[in-house]
Amino acid sequence: MQNVPEEWREGEERMGEMVVKRIVDSEGKKNEGQGGGEGEKESLMMELTKLVQKVVKESSWWERRGIDCSILAAAFLCLAPAFLLLGSSQVLYFSAGMLLMGMAHGVITIKGTHLASHGSLSESQAWAKVWAVFFIEICGSFSAQAGLQGHIKMHHAHTNVIGLGDSSVWKAPFLPRTVYLFIAPLAVPIITPLVALAHLRENSAAVMVRTILMVTLGLYSQYWLLIHVSGFLSPLSALLCMLVCRAMFSVTFIHVNIFQHIGLHMFSATSRPKRIYQMTHGVLNLPRNSLLDWMFGHSLINCHVEHHLFPFLSDNMCLKVKPVVSKYLMEKKLPYQEDSYFSRLRLFFNKYQELMVFAPPITELVGVQ
Ligand SMILES: [Zn+2]
Repeated sequence: MQNVPEEWREGEERMGEMVVKRIVDSEGKKNEGQGGGEGEKESLMMELTKLVQKVVKESSWWERRGIDCSILAAAFLCLAPAFLLLGSSQVLYFSAGMLLMGMAHGVITIKGTHLASHGSLSESQAWAKVWAVFFIEICGSFSAQAGLQGHIKMHHAHTNVIGLGDSSVWKAPFLPRTVYLFIAPLAVPIITPLVALAHLRENSAAVMVRTILMVTLGLYSQYWLLIHVSGFLSPLSALLCMLVCRAMFSVTFIHVNIFQHIGLHMFSATSRPKRIYQMTHGVLNLPRNSLLDWMFGHSLINCHVEHHLFPFLSDNMCLKVKPVVSKYLMEKKLPYQEDSYFSRLRLFFNKYQELMVFAPPITELVGVQ
């Protein structure tokens, strides 16, 4: 184990994040310089941020937000035919309805909640808050407060830092690997609102009431529509349909969450590297996959590295800056980690104990030359 070079430790933890936020928030306004601008040698992160900033500035609203908002709107529109198809007595139509609802639910609750948690759906802060509650609580049956705390303040701010953003929330070491990887995720739709309930105590009374009302509204409206529009005859069959639709992609959801961080370099809170090294060593991209790109979004699949470097960019913008980011990292001899879904699955299956049960080893230097 080597030590991290001193220059890696300088405090630029959230710099890229803040600069990009400023670009996105105050587009049109002249961007202020940063870091004092006293002719200091430009850091790698700043250099990369400027390249990304240029791409963002040259992009239209449609590219920055429109495409992703349209995909989400299309998912909501698909719900209407899905409820109608679920009313069919023909197996083929009924199955098509189930598949359509499962996919729409996946887009809304995975891509939608993720973008909403980052405030990427709107340029207005107030609307960003509304979308976070709408997507995370009503659609995702989770607490917006807990979601933002876990994903933004811990996972993104402390990616792969032991005890903070080390992805250990996804670990269930008491489960055997086959159960963890292929069976337990099916319970995600049931576990999610229960975890939200467990987090309620951390909130004020008003937020507590809001979360309970919003989660109940989301669950009850799907149930009501299944009974009154699709014509389900018993509450049990409607609940079962909800479970199947909501669990349809939860195995993949769990896989994606663990594949892109666990098993990569982990850091200690006291000697964490600079942000660009932290993210390039602790994050991995999966290859493009049409289904997952649509449902999970590029930022969770093939642009996860870009997303961790510039978390305020929408899915489409992550895809647009990907060539710039990958070229820059390669030029600077920084890692740009990529692996296929099935290669990661094989790794996690074969090394389950090492990756998901035992404590991960800490990297002091992340092995770059
Ligand atoms: Zn994120």
